[in-house]
Amino acid sequence: MNSKTLLQIAADYGSPVYVYNSEKIVSQYKRLTNAFNKVKKVKINYAVKALSNISVLKLMNSLGSGLDTVSIQEVKLGLEAGFSPENIIYTPNGVSLEEIELAASLGVQINIDNLSILEQFGTKFPKTPVCIRINPHVMAGGNTNISVGHIDSKFGISIHQIPHILRIVENTNMNINGIHMHTGSDILDIDVFLYAIEILFETAKNFSDLEFIDFGSGFKVPYKDGDIETNIEELGNKLSKRFNAFCKEYGKELTLAFEPGKFLVSEAGYFLTKVNVVKQTTSTVFAQIDSGFNHLIRPMLYGSQHEIINISNPNGRERFYSVVGYICETDTFANNRRINEITEGDILAFKNAGAYCYSMASNYNSRYRPAEVLWHNGKAHLIRKRETFDDIIKNQIEIAL
Ligand SMILES: *Cc1c(COP(=O)(O)O)cnc(C)c1O
Repeated sequence: MNSKTLLQIAADYGSPVYVYNSEKIVSQYKRLTNAFNKVKKVKINYAVKALSNISVLKLMNSLGSGLDTVSIQEVKLGLEAGFSPENIIYTPNGVSLEEIELAASLGVQINIDNLSILEQFGTKFPKTPVCIRINPHVMAGGNTNISVGHIDSKFGISIHQIPHILRIVENTNMNINGIHMHTGSDILDIDVFLYAIEILFETAKNFSDLEFIDFGSGFKVPYKDGDIETNIEELGNKLSKRFNAFCKEYGKELTLAFEPGKFLVSEAGYFLTKVNVVKQTTSTVFAQIDSGFNHLIRPMLYGSQHEIINISNPNGRERFYSVVGYICETDTFANNRRINEITEGDILAFKNAGAYCYSMASNYNSRYRPAEVLWHNGKAHLIRKRETFDDIIKNQIEIAL
């Protein structure tokens, strides 16, 4: 999206505001499906938690995507957006048996990640197909090192516990129709991914009625120049071959499933904020914007480096700035960042603001969460209103004191 369009959106809808470019979401979806076009059955389940606006979910539905959900509320959002239950997989961690039963009653694919619930659910509903989330103990990161640590992760059932899984499945006679892994975000190295996949294939051989294997996500997208990104085309090429060979060995055409969040929506998003104050100190120049970690917490939570551009002065002289927010807390978005000269009132655009930005926003400092706009077919559509004071107060109960 160009600066002029973004500036117009900020003028029309106020700041701060999140803007999503549907064209980018569509092209990322197509890139992923193209990379795996040698596999007969491929299923993309968009991870709702990355960006859960119902209009974005409807866009995903129109593309033929399914959904990956982690709470009963996300399941309900998906159904509300028009997804059929069989296109929704529910992958919770540490939720109650009651919530899983509720999801099952809505007809969505259940994915279980602990032995206790597996045993209880299998005993009560042996006929309901269940996917099992495996922890292959493969850790991505650390360049090319393949680490088999991660033993303490709270996610998934350890591969070392396969005998126990098999005992439960046999005892309850339950129907295991899928095997799943999600080793976490930011997989840098395709070989690490492929290594984990071999473990999943080995695991899969223990189950005779599988319909799908779900390889989760963790695809990395670039946040700044020079960032590594997952080479989807290379992954598609290598994994497709391995997957097709495995299906032959298994004796059945299985579905290859993925559940990307960040890959599909990160780069489609822009977060537009206004500079309230330019403040010189003895050591730096602060640009203070009308936001904080209440609206975008990734830089503070994960150290994420979102590129920031001054769309009000795109050709201005570059200077060094510390971009910070307006809440009463250290809320540094960027330190020592080269940005085109900033004047109070300028609009700064944060890039990669599609994934885990709005969806992690809060009301800290009793501030309103921003509006959201979808740029679709050359037009801006408001898809979420900015909050108002009523939203801040509506669930509070004033008692007589
Ligand atoms: C969060 C999550 C995803 C999406 O991860 P990305 O890094 O955004 O692609 C996929 N699967 C599960 C189970 C998740 O919890």
